[in-house]
Amino acid sequence: MLTAKEIRRRYLEFFHRHQHEIVASGPIIPPNDPTLLFANSGMVQFKKLFLGEEKRSYSRATTCQKCLRVSGKHNDLENVGRTARHHTFFEMLGNFAFGDYFKREAITWAWDFVTKELELPTDKLWVTVFREDDEAAELWAEIAKLPADRIVRMGEKDNFWTMGDTGPCGPCSEIYVDQGEDMSCGPDCGIGVCDCDRFLEIWNLVFTQFDQSADGTRTPLAKPNIDTGMGLERMAAVAQGKRSNFDCDLFQDIIQFAAGLAGVKYSFSSPDTNDVDTALRVIADHSRAAAFLIAGGVLPSNENRGYVLRRLIRRALRFATLMGVNEPFMHKVARKVTEVMGDAYPELVESADFIDRAVFEEEQRFSLTLKKGLDLLDEELSSLKAQGKTLIPGDFCFKLYDTYGFPLDIVTDVAEKRGFSADAQGFEKYMQEQRQRAREHQKKGGLLGQGENGANPFKSLADGGAQSRFVGYDGLTA
Ligand code: ATP
Ligand code: MG
Ligand code: MG
Ligand code: MG
Repeated sequence: MLTAKEIRRRYLEFFHRHQHEIVASGPIIPPNDPTLLFANSGMVQFKKLFLGEEKRSYSRATTCQKCLRVSGKHNDLENVGRTARHHTFFEMLGNFAFGDYFKREAITWAWDFVTKELELPTDKLWVTVFREDDEAAELWAEIAKLPADRIVRMGEKDNFWTMGDTGPCGPCSEIYVDQGEDMSCGPDCGIGVCDCDRFLEIWNLVFTQFDQSADGTRTPLAKPNIDTGMGLERMAAVAQGKRSNFDCDLFQDIIQFAAGLAGVKYSFSSPDTNDVDTALRVIADHSRAAAFLIAGGVLPSNENRGYVLRRLIRRALRFATLMGVNEPFMHKVARKVTEVMGDAYPELVESADFIDRAVFEEEQRFSLTLKKGLDLLDEELSSLKAQGKTLIPGDFCFKLYDTYGFPLDIVTDVAEKRGFSADAQGFEKYMQEQRQRAREHQKKGGLLGQGENGANPFKSLADGGAQSRFVGYDGLTA
């Protein structure tokens, strides 16, 4: 079996053979970058090189980047468990050129890597190009000898990559694997037509030619760049003949461990068809994210990144209770993550005890309030039902959040199962007001982002730069 570890190694070595410098992953919290909460792709650490604002000794690089997509433009939180291919935390392999090579080389090497190194069957591979990018379409036909019907032209939504609202961006070209008709969603299934798992996007080649400013204008960069991203978990699943990322080796160790703890069985079901499997997938996903976030210096709190972490832990715990687990559990799964991934990420080993403790304390805090919150929610739903209403008011959702640390998605989750929905906009309004109050409080020198009631056992660590500052609130509560 081609392990994920082996794919990671082969990728970096392949591009190293093509004169790329092997560069370590950038931190999961991008330093000095107020536009992003988390690194969401490999290019984040190279932004300044793409913009020509920084020079290094190399003009080609290859990395395996720790990514988190739970906020802002790229938010896959709700997709976890619903699709076979999305995680919050994942590893993105990438090769980069800073004013060096361009489309021809990027396409040639990507094709060589998947067909020669990994030996994926060429007849199962499809590519997409940006609608107006004749050059890329011609290169694919020439280099990969792909028939015209397997080179699909797509619009800006899918084939124009931007990291966020600003920064380097450009048209892109993606490689897909056709996983077969039995994975399709119906007769009209196709690339760009639906979002099912039949056509699995494995690699995105971005031809970074522009810098986007806040008003949306795109200025051509002095020199075009290459920025590619290949999801390691997806590639591992494909190489291992698995239909779901969660069935590849990277996840199975964690999932089987969590299943053992919970006394349940993982049954390799299709996405979203089996509640136990969904719970195990969410738990494995969120525990990976939590371990990396804590190792990166984030602690659970009601603000900013700390709130994202809190949500992930609490959301996972909620899924654990659905499986019948009613005791602290996530810290053990997070410990397992540090064992499984410690080889590639020594920072997890260094922080293992700390991660364990931080998750455990959060579990305890949450268990104190979970039952109370669920009871209140229950009462609210009964009262709404009696009034013939189905929308849970925003102020109630906010009260649950503010007093009981109940993330909105738990409310939504419970509500949906019983035919209700939560007023997310109303909730957001109260959140905004609270943030405003928090900002004013902070200006006056108050304690913020340090956990509930300002009491945080790890405050000294947080003060040592662990809680990074952040200026935008991009869809944190969406
Ligand atoms: P999708 O359309 O499947 O959501 P994407 O187009 O948003 O993927 P890109 O932004 O192009 O993804 O990222 C580059 C690569 O990173 C993808 O081709 C995929 O292999 C991987 N990837 C992206 N998002 C995720 C995720 N949430 N979990 C795991 N891998 C991912
Ligand atoms: Mg996506
Ligand atoms: Mg895509
Ligand atoms: Mg893509």
